[in-house]
Amino acid sequence: MSDLDPEEFRRLGHAVVDWVAGYRAGIGEHPVRAQVEPGWVRERMPALPEQPQPFDALLAELDRVVVPATTHWQAPGFFGYFPANASLHSVLGDLLSGGLGVQGMLWSTSPAATEVEQVLLDGLADALGLDPAYTWAGGGGGTIADSASSAALVALLAALHRTSGGAWRERGVDGTERVYVTAETHSSLAKAVRVAGLGAAALRIVPPSPGSLAMSAQAFAEMAAEDVAAGLRPVLVCPTIGTTGTGAVDPVREIALAAREHGTPGREIWVHVDAAWAGVAALCPEHRDVIDGVELADSFCTDAHKWLLTAFDASLLWVRDAAALPAALSITPEYLRNSATDSGEVVDYRDWQVPLGRRFRALKLWSVLHGFGLEGVRAHLRGHVALAAELESWIVAEPGFELAVPRSLSLVCLRLSAGDEATRALLERVNATGRVLLTHTVVDGRYVIRVAIGSVATEREHVEELWGLLTSR
Ligand SMILES: *Cc1c(COP(=O)(O)O)cnc(C)c1O
Repeated sequence: MSDLDPEEFRRLGHAVVDWVAGYRAGIGEHPVRAQVEPGWVRERMPALPEQPQPFDALLAELDRVVVPATTHWQAPGFFGYFPANASLHSVLGDLLSGGLGVQGMLWSTSPAATEVEQVLLDGLADALGLDPAYTWAGGGGGTIADSASSAALVALLAALHRTSGGAWRERGVDGTERVYVTAETHSSLAKAVRVAGLGAAALRIVPPSPGSLAMSAQAFAEMAAEDVAAGLRPVLVCPTIGTTGTGAVDPVREIALAAREHGTPGREIWVHVDAAWAGVAALCPEHRDVIDGVELADSFCTDAHKWLLTAFDASLLWVRDAAALPAALSITPEYLRNSATDSGEVVDYRDWQVPLGRRFRALKLWSVLHGFGLEGVRAHLRGHVALAAELESWIVAEPGFELAVPRSLSLVCLRLSAGDEATRALLERVNATGRVLLTHTVVDGRYVIRVAIGSVATEREHVEELWGLLTSR
């Protein structure tokens, strides 16, 4: 048996593109959330064939087994979690990446995979208004990680290296490390602490400022000072721009200044800014204030695969010191040695991540930026923010409805004044229609419905439909 020959691939490839086009064209007709019970798919999957099967049969199985058991994240009625944009432009880029099929672990294993990524990340840093120190040109650098979770983990590893004066690589952790987050910080930070072997005691939960959900910089400063006095080692603080629950924004500038004050020169507390969802809003000058203070941080992460039109996985990570991640992570066995690396003139992205191998993720991001242009991307973001502002105004004007927290960009959190049970019942009733998907959170002990507007296909009519469902009795 051999692989498809290119002519056969051409024919079947057209069929696949047709399938995807048909799926997207009809996406609004499916119930947004999959309606199946656990095991439904397992029962229907065909046995592994001994003999090759015709490709059409696979597409038929997709229709039979996969589509009914899929939650349609690209549906215009998808308002849950945060969006997972997979624009068709990015899908085309993903196909090109798969077609090239390269491993971009080292510059020398495929120079284009590295340099396209560097150029895109420098360009995006500029478009976001990030401090030029984050660019390759400015001595820092950007990379495309698989997820914000991985980005947080590697930032933590670089922080362990730096705050230990380099001893961590040999000695490992010693139980004195401390990492600062809030109760609203994404769980990926707690996971990174666990994966790094620091133990649960290393995670310090900084309280919010009174009357808000944002980290109190003063409380962080006090905790760090107490920890230092007790012989412990502050390693990393993670302010969030746009928390997952409610979109709260921690005061990055004050936190970064406090981190400087309590660090030892050369072994400063690492400031990792997690802006997984909201950071891309800084592409619009009117929202640039969201990244205020990021110029004082060590690393900044925002996901292209949430609100920036790019199919999972593409999380953008910038680090102010281009040497920091390789210093913590680089290990060079003989079989990876090459003259380009030895020359010191190239970047080997394997040193910026946990795995060795990496795919050419930059192609789908390039395809998005090329296809939409920065103006198109800004229009995408602005459209959702404007729809969220409208929804917010309807909520404020509607008796019995309340905003749970002020709107954050395109995230609106609401509840019913009648109480938690009524709010929960409303969420369930609206989701049961299959027309939309909403998720919830808890704020100050109260149940809250989140409306995250951000699907590529969402237009005003879909938000109107959602509001009709929320207000119909
Ligand atoms: C979604 C989210 C993450 C995790 O994102 P992944 O890229 O899926 O790992 C981290 N932080 C925040 C604030 C998020 O909203």
